[in-house]
Amino acid sequence: MRIELVQGDITTRAVDVIVNAANSSLLGGGGVDGAIHRAAGPELLAACRELRRTDLPDGLPVGAAVATPGFRLPARWVIHTVGPNRHAGQTDPALLASCFRESLELAESLGAQSVAFPAVSAGVYGWDAREVAETAFDAVTTFAASFEESGEDTAVDLVEFVLFSSEMVDVFRQVREGGP
Ligand code: ADP
Repeated sequence: MRIELVQGDITTRAVDVIVNAANSSLLGGGGVDGAIHRAAGPELLAACRELRRTDLPDGLPVGAAVATPGFRLPARWVIHTVGPNRHAGQTDPALLASCFRESLELAESLGAQSVAFPAVSAGVYGWDAREVAETAFDAVTTFAASFEESGEDTAVDLVEFVLFSSEMVDVFRQVREGGP
């Protein structure tokens, strides 16, 4: 499984899945969530409302993931996950790891080959960029290793971290290279 760092706007990525750093309501927000809803079109909000009406009346729990079509996006699906909000006292790294793991498991079950992640929880939700990067790399490598051990191939063979700022790319690069 390849892991690549990309600087830019995740809504432009022609991958099978882009992951949305959503909130529990699934009804849109700012940051990457707002950008994804704008680019996907109103059909995405309608699909999210339908999920709320049916499977998720209380919203999507922190650390969980759910898929919708990508509608007007180049990506085929959007996987929505809810990162922990540090400002609300959600400081358990296991919750953040769960976002990456559950998104990958869901992408795998969809048969997706390529998945793009933003820096979940590193924006409004207030997590330190380095901790997000460490958690993200760890979750992806653990996911890949679990398949290798079982001798199976993953459907997912490319994971991109699509990062808005060059500073965030630098943090992810440093973590990948194991530097200070
Ligand atoms: P959260 O609420 O989970 O912290 P945010 O959307 O506030 O989510 O921020 C998560 C990260 O996504 C931040 O690093 C932010 O700069 C970045 N981001 C915002 N818009 C985009 C976009 N269009 N593509 C990729 N990353 C984005």
